[in-house]
Amino acid sequence: MFNLILFGPPGSGKGTQSEKLIARYGLKHLSTGDLLRSEIAAQSPLGMAAKSIMDKGQLVPDEVVIEMINSALENNPQARGFLFDGFPRTTAQAEALDKLLAQKETEIAIVLALQVSKEELVSRLLNRGKSSGRSDDTNEAVILSRIEEYERKTAVVAEYYDKFGKVVRVKGEGTIDEIFDILSSEIDAKSEA
Ligand code: ADP
Repeated sequence: MFNLILFGPPGSGKGTQSEKLIARYGLKHLSTGDLLRSEIAAQSPLGMAAKSIMDKGQLVPDEVVIEMINSALENNPQARGFLFDGFPRTTAQAEALDKLLAQKETEIAIVLALQVSKEELVSRLLNRGKSSGRSDDTNEAVILSRIEEYERKTAVVAEYYDKFGKVVRVKGEGTIDEIFDILSSEIDAKSEA
């Protein structure tokens, strides 16, 4: 299996690049943001509880997202590999993911970390909010809280994977195709190694 994490702040382009990467590499896309939004759409109790947290720009509790990922791994036994998008977002989530993958006798091959300036993030998210229908993208205060949550709780996840030499930092500014080419060559270099 080849498992990768696409890492970066909100608005760094993880969703866009994920779509292209799964198509090229045949990976199963696991986005905790998408999984949570399906729970909200289904009006499940989990979705309702998550919505109020997401609307404030805060992180949903670790145990909730870890359990969602656990089920997704169980439900895709035939996958050639997984692309994790928006997960793990805390060190506790990263440790839990490593354990779940170890139980399947696999691991994270590479963490691709997209680097984008804060000004660019805010402008992209506000712009996405005009058409995405995502309530967390329309309010600048909520966008700033999400970026703050990222800086306080999520940025350290890159340091966690640095200890294992797994992180490759990639500039997330440029055209979609330019960034995709860089990400692809990093994956190719890793999977040939
Ligand atoms: P973005 O990264 O663009 O903000 P996502 O779709 O990844 O968007 O996430 C939207 C919201 O869902 C987050 O602000 C957070 O509230 C919640 N969320 C998603 N993934 C996680 C996670 N792994 N841990 C905690 N909360 C999460």
